[in-house]
Amino acid sequence: METVVINITTEYDKALEKSAELLKNGEVVSIPTETVYGLAANALCENAVKKIFVAKGRPSDNPLIVHIAKFEDLAPLVAEIPEKVKVMADAFWPAPLTMIMKKSDKVSNVVSGNLPTVAIRMPKSDYARAIIEACGLPLAAPSANLSGSPSPTNAKYVYDDMNGRIPLIIDGGNCEIGVESTVISFAEDPPRLLRPGGVTLEEMTALIGEIVVDDAVLNKLEDGAVASSPGMKYKHYAPSADITIIKSDFETFKTLCESEDNITALCFDGENEKLSCKSVTYGDESDGYSQSARLFDALRELDEMGATKVYARCPDTKGMGLAVYNRLIRASGFKIKVI
Ligand code: AMP
Ligand code: MG
Repeated sequence: METVVINITTEYDKALEKSAELLKNGEVVSIPTETVYGLAANALCENAVKKIFVAKGRPSDNPLIVHIAKFEDLAPLVAEIPEKVKVMADAFWPAPLTMIMKKSDKVSNVVSGNLPTVAIRMPKSDYARAIIEACGLPLAAPSANLSGSPSPTNAKYVYDDMNGRIPLIIDGGNCEIGVESTVISFAEDPPRLLRPGGVTLEEMTALIGEIVVDDAVLNKLEDGAVASSPGMKYKHYAPSADITIIKSDFETFKTLCESEDNITALCFDGENEKLSCKSVTYGDESDGYSQSARLFDALRELDEMGATKVYARCPDTKGMGLAVYNRLIRASGFKIKVI
């Protein structure tokens, strides 16, 4: 299959027209969002959704997020809208925020991975919402990478993974947030945070009170444990390099990196200039948003450099840092050294 790329910043009308045509015909299109690039298909058509799983090589029990363009699109997809969801939607949507609710009969088990619930997001990206509006359909869309590799934050990385597998990639430039959406379940009360992302735990707690943080956010699931969010049990965000997170101050980190041969450092901006080993940076030490915007690019750069052993600086877990830490511990296979 030939994969066409259309740049939505320079060819807006053509991008909308072509993606709407393909999506209405049950095809898969990669679309830009503010979190990462998505692999979108008509959420109401089982055959279209199955093509997403094939293109990604994604396990079929890992459910997909359904993307909508306006609040009125939510009601047909869910059994009921909990009061706290209304408050959250009012305060945050459109946003990098996915809310899980009991699903309606309209949502197939192919989308929900056989769960009785469905995950819904209204993306902040104007391009993403314009594409949803243009086809007039809710779009199931996981990240547009091959299952297991880092989520793509620009159209080139989508092309690297999806060339020949899907007919169209819409290029909307770099993703602003750079890590996947916050996922929070309202299928139980108090609500449960399943994945940290661009809307932070602190922001949500200030609005709706108690939120339970699922164990899988910060810890490795025990073998055989049932995951609240099936995606959490899969190896995720993994570059080929062997990564260990080093919890220490910078001087200790520098000594460690320079005491061994062939180490590549994954460090904060500016620290690279003080290191004599190879390095890749992933944002400002005190700014979680700049770290999230850089993290997945940095992981792909490590692979492009042929890095084999990587020591990574440890982010702070407050605010946006929780989402960065959650992705980095998975990229490292939960290898953390406290010095
Ligand atoms: P991705 O689409 O690749 O960003 O991944 C979506 C994430 O949301 C995965 O970790 C899924 O397991 C999770 N998810 C989607 N739908 C549900 C659901 N109904 N219940 C729990 N987790 C879900
Ligand atoms: Mg993904």
